[in-house]
Amino acid sequence: MKNLLDWFDQNRRDLPWRRSRSPYSTWISEIMLQQTRVETVKPYYERWMERFPDVQTLAAADEQEVLKLWEGLGYYSRARSIHKAARVIVSEYGGEIPSDPAQLRKLPGIGDYTAGAIASIGCGLPAAALDGNIRRILARYYDIADPVRTPQTEKLLWKLAEENLNQKRPGDHNEALMDLGSAICLPENPQCLLCPLREDCLSRQHGTTAERPVMIKAEPIPHYIVTAALIPDKSGERFLLTKRPAKGLLGGMWEFPGGKQEAGETLEECICREIREELDIAIHAGEQFGVYKHAYTHFKVTLHAFRCEHISGDPKPLAADELGWFTTEEMQALPMGKIDRMIAQNLTGLS
Ligand code: SF4
Repeated sequence: MKNLLDWFDQNRRDLPWRRSRSPYSTWISEIMLQQTRVETVKPYYERWMERFPDVQTLAAADEQEVLKLWEGLGYYSRARSIHKAARVIVSEYGGEIPSDPAQLRKLPGIGDYTAGAIASIGCGLPAAALDGNIRRILARYYDIADPVRTPQTEKLLWKLAEENLNQKRPGDHNEALMDLGSAICLPENPQCLLCPLREDCLSRQHGTTAERPVMIKAEPIPHYIVTAALIPDKSGERFLLTKRPAKGLLGGMWEFPGGKQEAGETLEECICREIREELDIAIHAGEQFGVYKHAYTHFKVTLHAFRCEHISGDPKPLAADELGWFTTEEMQALPMGKIDRMIAQNLTGLS
């Protein structure tokens, strides 16, 4: 990959996390960038660094504050894992992020790619990294006809990533490939004429760039219909919210209680059943408040929110970590997922 670093020296992107490189800045930016666009990450990264400039400050913070700062970035298990890892780094490594990829991989939320990125970019060590961009470039550069993401091809791609790694500038090499993948070797219509690797790129020579990388066809994404209840207290000013269990989707985030519609149920029957099962109270489902759609990684939801009336029983958090009654103003300080934040915002001024 002979011209790669010359190209990088002239074309490197100016990104906030590249301005002062450290294992910590690399770690935080790489986790934020998983499944998330660079432009979306920038303001989150800057806010994060202002509030949590180092591992120690992060480890000492409350998880709710960490989730609140992450709110809107999605994939909240990433924030919880960063927080847990920070505490391990303080308790087991004296607050120093390890540079050895094997030690890094033992930390919560750090996989092969992130370990390679931290070791090479943050610590300057000769460690390979393989993300979606680099995988695509290698599959094209070597014209790999086998599907990527299979254990066998992954092994081959890691070997090729290691063989090609520039030993003198491993961090720059990995960043150069990331930049090349986001600007030139694009998923659709790669800009081969502008590419520093064009002379040796086998898929370009064979005319197969459009067919590489070969992907296994993804399963169709399921679509769920769910309901949520807006249950006011007697004053009508506070609403009942539950905190999701720490593990799993949106763990630790606050939400309007509710759940999935079952076969043969009306939406009203669904919300009453869910609230009975989850909170052990009886409610009456009133008028519909709104319909919200959202796509998660592995499924889509259409959520129907109802204004409800609390009929009887003291609510208990049977399926949640906690529950509480909050005004719309108090909700602003709670970490919430996208749909629940939209409901809370729509409630402001209406309640
Ligand atoms: S020549 Fe084209 S296909 Fe090959 S690495 Fe460059 S942009 Fe990608």
